[in-house]
Amino acid sequence: MCGIVGYVGGREAANVIISGLHRLEYRGYDSAGLAVIHPDGVLDVFKCKGKVDDLERFLQGKNAGGTIGIGHTRWATHGEPSDANAHPHLSRSGDLALIHNGIIENYRVLRDALRTQGFTFRSSTDSEVLVNLIEYVRDEHRCSLEEAVREALSQVVGAYAIAVIERGDTSRIIAARKSSPMAIGVGDGEYFLSSDAASIIGFTQDFVYLNDGEIAVIERGKPLHIMTLDGAESPVAIQKLRLSISQLEKGGFDHFMLKEIHEQPETLEDCIRGRVIPGTREVILSGVLDNKERFLAARRIIFVACGTSWHASLIGEHLIESMCRIPVEVEYASEFRYRDPVIYPDDIVIAVSQSGETADTLAAVGMARKAGAFVYGICNVVGSSIPRATHSGTYIHVGPEIGVASTKAFTGQVTVMAMMALLIGRLKGTIDEGYYHRVAQAILELPATIREALKTAPEVASLARMFTYAHNFIYLGRGYNYPTALEGALKLKEISYIHAEGLPAAEMKHGPIALIDAEMPTVAIATPDSTYEKTLSNIEEIKARGGKIIAVVCKGDDLVRRSADYCIEVPSTVECLMPVVSIVPLQFLSYYIATYKGRNVDQPRNLAKSVTVE
Ligand code: GLU
Repeated sequence: MCGIVGYVGGREAANVIISGLHRLEYRGYDSAGLAVIHPDGVLDVFKCKGKVDDLERFLQGKNAGGTIGIGHTRWATHGEPSDANAHPHLSRSGDLALIHNGIIENYRVLRDALRTQGFTFRSSTDSEVLVNLIEYVRDEHRCSLEEAVREALSQVVGAYAIAVIERGDTSRIIAARKSSPMAIGVGDGEYFLSSDAASIIGFTQDFVYLNDGEIAVIERGKPLHIMTLDGAESPVAIQKLRLSISQLEKGGFDHFMLKEIHEQPETLEDCIRGRVIPGTREVILSGVLDNKERFLAARRIIFVACGTSWHASLIGEHLIESMCRIPVEVEYASEFRYRDPVIYPDDIVIAVSQSGETADTLAAVGMARKAGAFVYGICNVVGSSIPRATHSGTYIHVGPEIGVASTKAFTGQVTVMAMMALLIGRLKGTIDEGYYHRVAQAILELPATIREALKTAPEVASLARMFTYAHNFIYLGRGYNYPTALEGALKLKEISYIHAEGLPAAEMKHGPIALIDAEMPTVAIATPDSTYEKTLSNIEEIKARGGKIIAVVCKGDDLVRRSADYCIEVPSTVECLMPVVSIVPLQFLSYYIATYKGRNVDQPRNLAKSVTVE
């Protein structure tokens, strides 16, 4: 979490940094700050609690001039959001300024050791300990800043992406990373750095992605110099990032989340293009085809993921088990990595993450590789850490997702999983040709189906107005739509702060039905599938206890309508793709309830988008 930016070149650093920080705000917005070195070598820090807009106001009338600087937007892990805890942090002498994304796990031990050397601390962050450790090493060893950074980092346990500048040095930034992302933008006589290359795409399209355990010396007018923590030279590989600025803007919508819900027909087109061939309906996923033998011999598939990606993985479990007859397990990456799980060399571990930077998922990838499993990634951000750490994978290609509540990534992930299941099932001979063609055709039609589902917006908006004051919600679904219920409930929690619980409908009688009364609305996904009749009975049971029911049904349904208080009609598709369609009104429901409650939909409290800390 948290976003870091840096600049050295010919422009006003503060302008570049502010523009980058605005685009990184999805990563955290507890505080913002920047440090610049003025042309006379004086190092100045400007920082405050709040958002980047607050920092801009804070900067008004102040001199932040200089062509080298670093900036930070924070998602607090150690110490409350406050001016003092905002980054950049200065070292004791004021010589060094540092920005940090991550957690220094052994910061207490290091802080106590530094205290015995007379250091005092102005903040409660782990990051301030690191900048002082670097200064201590620099002064003790009388070494250069990059040597001090390297030596200090060898004493650090934890995760970091850092950038450091030094008073008097108007041309160099030292950057390093371990388990937190960092991209260096290469311009004409200038360098940029950022946690997310997309944030600086307006300045350059050429990027060098720092690998774990690397340090970069970024110096004006000199070639980029990258080395490992052990001092070995690393190659500098420049990659082009093709992205347009318009993909990073709201495009006339009030919020990124609303834009991202509405662009799902197009993002799914991008996800499917070239992968399901119209006409022949052939599925081509090079990540699977190039590793066909591994997939055919798989003893088991284990999905590792967090949050929305975990919900998508539960749907992946249904898809793969039913079409490929391979046993599947779905694991929270954060539990998996600490549980000493059994991983066989003929297992396939599939890591699912929108950002490709989720710290726990990345760690699970490392474990799975060590155990000899074949590791596959399903990610969105091209060039991010998980795709680079896996053996192979498939990008979902839904474009930058900026709203903190994930929407188009979920539908993209499920679509990729459906294509994978279909392809592997056909290769294994575990699905018949008729079914294969029906599902492949339905995938090709998904963008049009979603376009239809988007028409529910006005109706869902008026329902949302009626339910804005509810304090709790239950979401029910069965089969493929049980994970949809979990995802719908998560959307509501995230952005409206209303408590919501997603449950398999039949579990109600095992306890949760006790919660039902006139104050507890239930959202039931009751689209025609193999458990339709059963879901109908579950709805009746709630109705009999005075509960209010909002049902998501398929067009033309009149059975559910007899019991539910309100019905939202979505177009139908094959059962296994229904979650991609039925999630759409649930995305709208959470969006409209949250906006009616006056919540900050794109920046909900306490959250940040890409969870790069444990
Ligand atoms: N641990 C640092 C802090 O609390 C950085 C947090 C982050 O990366 O989100 O300030």
